[in-house]
Amino acid sequence: MSSIDRISFPIVVSGPSGVGKTTLCHGLMDGDERLAFSISATTRQARAIEKDGTDYFFVSEQKFEKMRVEGGLAEWALVHGKLYGTPRKWLDQKLADGISILLDIDVQGGVQILDAYPNSVSIFVVPPSFRVLEDRLRNRKSEEEQAIRQRLDNALGEMEYITRYSYVVANDTIEQAVSSMRSIVNAERCSRQRILESTTWKEYIGFEGKGV
Ligand code: 5GP
Repeated sequence: MSSIDRISFPIVVSGPSGVGKTTLCHGLMDGDERLAFSISATTRQARAIEKDGTDYFFVSEQKFEKMRVEGGLAEWALVHGKLYGTPRKWLDQKLADGISILLDIDVQGGVQILDAYPNSVSIFVVPPSFRVLEDRLRNRKSEEEQAIRQRLDNALGEMEYITRYSYVVANDTIEQAVSSMRSIVNAERCSRQRILESTTWKEYIGFEGKGV
């Protein structure tokens, strides 16, 4: 890999619960070997279709607390009454390997990552309307009515954080939203600032110091 191909950064993807962040992240990763998904630790129960170690690391509160106290989490937050956090070691290792990491995390965790990793790219995903968000939460049938209400209430508070994010993507259709996110990632990979942070322009064009 050339130094230019090693440019990597965390990509924080936040937005109200049910807006489709996880689907968009997986769509974005498809066919891009320089992207990987951060698997979070959580104390919530696994849903029927979820697998431990693939969707989340499902852990006890004691295990989560141990990870947190030992500095093993790059960020963590209490979201909808459960604990969620990003394992730090894997994140840092992948970034050092030149892989950009997608973090599908809530806004509290998002701002922690933006503060700790100032080279992050931040994307806020919004629903086409509040009504659509409500329908999507109900249609995925993974939560009880009370949990759906809690997530809708929290959505309004989460929207307030939009000003901390650099990009806003509306998830109207998955294809359009993934395409917008791909454009953002590609543009960031071409950022002059990022390129010249990791190499010199002479190195970049392969100039070896000899005249023509
Ligand atoms: P869910 O329980 O629906 O999978 O996720 C609930 C919320 O927790 C979503 O907004 C999701 O982005 C967020 N979340 C998932 N993993 C993490 C994490 O590691 N840290 C934080 N702060 N939020 C997370």
